[in-house]
Amino acid sequence: MAPLPPSPQQTVAAIYAAYEEDAGNSLREHLGASLIGAECERALWYSFRWATRARHTGRLLRLFETGNLAEARFVANLRRIGVTVMDLDPATGRQWNLRHAGGHFGGSMDGVAIGLPEAPKSWHVCEFKTHSEKSFTALKKDGVERSKPLHWAQMQVYMHLAGIDRAFYLAANKNTDELYQERIRYDAEAAMRLIAKAERIIGSSCPPTRISEDPAWWQCRMCDHHALCHEGAPAERTCRSCLHATPADQGAWTCARHSIQLTRADQQSGCAAHLYIPDLIRGEQVDAGEDWVEYRLPDGTIWRDGVAA
Ligand code: SF4
Ligand code: SF4
Repeated sequence: MAPLPPSPQQTVAAIYAAYEEDAGNSLREHLGASLIGAECERALWYSFRWATRARHTGRLLRLFETGNLAEARFVANLRRIGVTVMDLDPATGRQWNLRHAGGHFGGSMDGVAIGLPEAPKSWHVCEFKTHSEKSFTALKKDGVERSKPLHWAQMQVYMHLAGIDRAFYLAANKNTDELYQERIRYDAEAAMRLIAKAERIIGSSCPPTRISEDPAWWQCRMCDHHALCHEGAPAERTCRSCLHATPADQGAWTCARHSIQLTRADQQSGCAAHLYIPDLIRGEQVDAGEDWVEYRLPDGTIWRDGVAA
């Protein structure tokens, strides 16, 4: 009998493709507290301005989902030992949504809890995470602040915005299901620094300085914005990369060109009058008129942004 042909993994490929399709519109509305601890402010600004659309593989998107699905289990584990966990905001019946900086900065807190055996009378901000073996080993050895500074920063912001001075970090090893816990104290100075950093990024109309001018710098090599930042690749053409757009109060964006408030759909599609924020173009601005700007590019050619001559 002839052997079966090697499996092309069609079903798996279809599942991954479905994840990628569902994530098609996953541009994050606000600057996320989960990222604010990142060192490069320029990368954070690019993300806030939707300058590069992150394109994750279906496999990776499914991995993110695994982390999210684990949250309900962490809550169930805590409730089973008598801890009171509020994973939803009683005011809305939905996930806790914390915002600052005119509604442009914040995140979704996993929950708040009281009745932990170590400190039964104190409310804690809860943060639940799953880790690879390597990451979990480092976490046990060095603690959250050293081994996972982004998670630590995220909790500082949540404690600050929720007005709670303790956080409870509960983590699981994805390989073995071993658990790790750590209670984190509110550090007012660190929280204020992170809030000020977020305000600076949101309020900036141009990209902050690079963390390194060397494209081969390790953080740059791993950065989603590498091509735009170091190679002159074009930014996504949305309202957030347009020089006419400004973040306004309550998480809104306004357009000075059309004197309107922009819906999320408007922001994603932009319009024919879009003009790039000049610092997003690798070139020298040489001329401008109504709805157009001309740049001299590094190779000496003139490139016109906006309406044709
Ligand atoms: S490539 Fe480097 S400098 Fe540029 S945004 Fe990314 S981390 Fe920052
Ligand atoms: S001019 Fe067009 S692309 Fe620019 S902000 Fe206004 S609506 Fe958006």
